[in-house]
Amino acid sequence: MHTTMLPIFDGHNDALTRVCLPASAGGRDFFARGESGHIDLPRAREGGLAGGLFAICAPPDKAERAFEFTTEIARRFFELLDGAGGALRVVRTVRAIEESMDAGTLAVALHLEGAEAIDPGLESLPRFFDQGFRSIGITWSRPNAFASGVPFAFPGGPDTGPGLTPAGTSLVRACNRLGVLIDLSHLNERGFWDVAAISTAPLVATHSAAHALCPSSRNVTDRQLDAIGASGGVVGIPFCTAFLREDGRTDVTTPISAIVRHVAYVAQRIGIDHVAFGSDFDGATVPRDLGDAAGLPRLVDALRGAGFDEESIHKVARLNWLRVLRATWGA
Ligand code: ZN
Repeated sequence: MHTTMLPIFDGHNDALTRVCLPASAGGRDFFARGESGHIDLPRAREGGLAGGLFAICAPPDKAERAFEFTTEIARRFFELLDGAGGALRVVRTVRAIEESMDAGTLAVALHLEGAEAIDPGLESLPRFFDQGFRSIGITWSRPNAFASGVPFAFPGGPDTGPGLTPAGTSLVRACNRLGVLIDLSHLNERGFWDVAAISTAPLVATHSAAHALCPSSRNVTDRQLDAIGASGGVVGIPFCTAFLREDGRTDVTTPISAIVRHVAYVAQRIGIDHVAFGSDFDGATVPRDLGDAAGLPRLVDALRGAGFDEESIHKVARLNWLRVLRATWGA
C-alpha cells in the first residue's frame, strides 16, 4: 500500500525534555536522524510532522526544582533554536503555525506539562508567557499547588482526589486572560469539572484516550468527552499503548488500528471536529508498526483504510487543533 504525506499538528510530545538534556544524561542531536526516541528533525520531515505542542515536564526526581529544571531545558532549547538555521520556529499564533507549515519549518508551541514551575502567586507566569509558552497542563500525574493529577492506574478511574485549589482557580483565570491553553490531561476528574465550570476557553485534553475502550485512570470518561465536545474543544488521542489497549498493557505489538479505534469512538461520540492526535512521542511506548514520527503516514493510511474521508482526516491531522488554538490564543 502506498503511504501519503499529510501535514500533521500533534497535541503532545516530550521531545524537548529528551533532546535538551546534556549528552551525558541522554540528550540527542535533534538535527541528525536517530534511531532512539521518536522525534528529530529528519524524522519529523519524513513523516509530515509539521508542528505540535512540545512539552517541558520536570520528571519526578526534579519536581521540587521544577522552575530550575524548566528554565534550564528552555535555555537549551533556545540555544538549539538559534543554531537551527530557521528549520524550526516557536509559534504563538495559529497564523504563525500556518506560515511555518507553508515554509516547511517545524512549528513548536511550547507547553508546560505540570505547573510546578509556576509559583502559587503566579508571579513567574508572565515570564513563561514572554518566553513563548502558550499551553499549560495544570498537573502531571501528581498533586501540586494548583490541583491534583491522576496517579497511573489500570483499571482505574480519574476520580482520585480533590479539585482545584484557590491557586488553581487563579491559574485558570489567568490563562483565560492571557490566552494560554489549559490542558486537562493528567488532571483528576474533580479538577476537570472545576476547570469546566470556570474556564471561558474550549476544554482540551491534549493526550488522553477514551476510558470506555481502555479503563486507564489517564483516559477521559464519556461524560468528560461530552463536556469537551460541548465546549468546542478537542481530545488528542495518544499513541501510548497502555492507554489504548483494553488490557492496559504496554506492548509494542499493539496494532496501529488501536489508535484508529479511539479516534473513531470519540468521533462517533462527540463528532469528528473534536478528535485529533496527541502522540506522546518521546514520552511513551508506541506501536512498533508506527515506530516514530517518520511512521505517521501509516497512521493516516490506517484512518483512510477504516473509512475516514479526506475532510475528516484533515480535521484529525491538523485542522481541529488549529481551530481550538485559534479560539484559545485569539490569533
Ligand atoms: Zn503526559
